Amino acid sequence: MAKIVILGGSFGGLTSAFELRRLLGSKAEITLVCDTDKFVFVPSLPWLSMGWRRPEEITIGLENMLTGKGIKFICEAAVGVDADAAKVVTATQELRYDYLVIATGPDLGFSSVPGFGPYGGHTECIFTLDQAVKTKKAWDRFLENPGPVVVGAVQGVSCFGPAYEYAFEVDTELRKRNIRHKVPMTFVTSEPYIGHFGIGGLRTSRRMMEDEFADREIKVIANQTVEEFVPDEVRLKDGIKLPFRLAMFAPPMAGVKAVFHLGNPKGFIPVDANYRHKSYKNIFSVGVAIVIAPPEQTPVPTGVPKTGFMTEHMAKDAAKSIAAEILGKPSPETEPVGALCIMDMGNKGALMKAYPVLPPRREAELKVGLSYKWAKLAFEKYYLWKIKRGLTNLP
Ligand SMILES: Cc1cc2nc3c(=O)[nH]c(=O)nc-3n(C[C@H](O)[C@H](O)[C@H](O)COP(=O)(O)OP(=O)(O)OC[C@H]3O[C@@H](n4cnc5c(N)ncnc54)[C@H](O)[C@@H]3O)c2cc1C
Repeated sequence: MAKIVILGGSFGGLTSAFELRRLLGSKAEITLVCDTDKFVFVPSLPWLSMGWRRPEEITIGLENMLTGKGIKFICEAAVGVDADAAKVVTATQELRYDYLVIATGPDLGFSSVPGFGPYGGHTECIFTLDQAVKTKKAWDRFLENPGPVVVGAVQGVSCFGPAYEYAFEVDTELRKRNIRHKVPMTFVTSEPYIGHFGIGGLRTSRRMMEDEFADREIKVIANQTVEEFVPDEVRLKDGIKLPFRLAMFAPPMAGVKAVFHLGNPKGFIPVDANYRHKSYKNIFSVGVAIVIAPPEQTPVPTGVPKTGFMTEHMAKDAAKSIAAEILGKPSPETEPVGALCIMDMGNKGALMKAYPVLPPRREAELKVGLSYKWAKLAFEKYYLWKIKRGLTNLP
């Protein structure tokens, strides 16, 4: 029986595991290794940081979810992969595999800027559950004594969406509380222009986002490099100094330590159209862990976002390819990955569609409206329902 090991228990890892189980039935022994015991619905972390969600509303225990489908769960961090010997190494064991799926997501690069980040630095972050919980505490303290807010994304960032969401949500909540006039807000980004999102913009996204920030009286500083964060101040490369009482900045990403050696200089895994490692034929990788080259070189470096929707698409294709090989069938044809994402804007939402993700595109749009807020709220409930039951075959 083929032994398949999957690293990571989020969008990529769970979708791979459930799809492989469905495609292979009892023909494979599937083991999922994850360094945490919970699936976290990451898209709701900005809401959690605003106090609009509690951790238990957006997390699901992995053990029951997986063992219910006959998938073995090991709650340990992989500390290394010996690709030549086809072994995953954890602190307590070695796991031999016939196929490995790497879905370990990102390592967050707070060391890229002095004074950056929530671990000994001066900025908040909302990219993990712990960080979002900490940001909620910082928000509560901020509300007792409001002052300037700076939100943004430093050089090298690929995942810009959460910074936009946070800025719009802070603006919305301050207006609800009638204290927006006490809070000067600035959005600082490495994107060449607002609405670029690391993928080169979506039709009129630049104009739409410029209008949106202007309507909300949030000052925008684009195409910027952050030099350092000191207590209560962001210092930009061109000499601008921005005081803050609360700052939330998105970090750049790299591959995680355990698989870094299998990747490019940033530790992202190079894969072919079937998500197979370019050098190791029995290793597949999906989601944030893989290399996607930026469509254009931006004056300040930026990367390409890898969304949950994209990650699920990749995981389904990788699972089909592994299953085909095990069943002695030809490798399936794959379609280039597209992006479909709903961005929360506090009091409304935006639908972002790009197919394929990188230009030239067949389809691209950004639409703003109240209905997208409702769609995002509904999608959270639907996704949690779906993943809890392993129904990754549903849309
Ligand atoms: C704040 C925020 C909001 C977002 N909002 C949206 C949205 O609205 N829509 C959308 O489509 N996308 C959104 N995204 C992007 C989306 O969350 C990612 O595309 C998705 O999480 C990627 O899934 P993944 O499985 O590749 O990686 P991750 O979700 O990062 O998961 C990685 C998994 O690997 C585990 N892991 C890491 N290292 C190890 C190790 N050494 N050993 C074992 N396990 C390990 C982790 O614990 C985790 O379970 C958002 C991202 C952020 C940060």
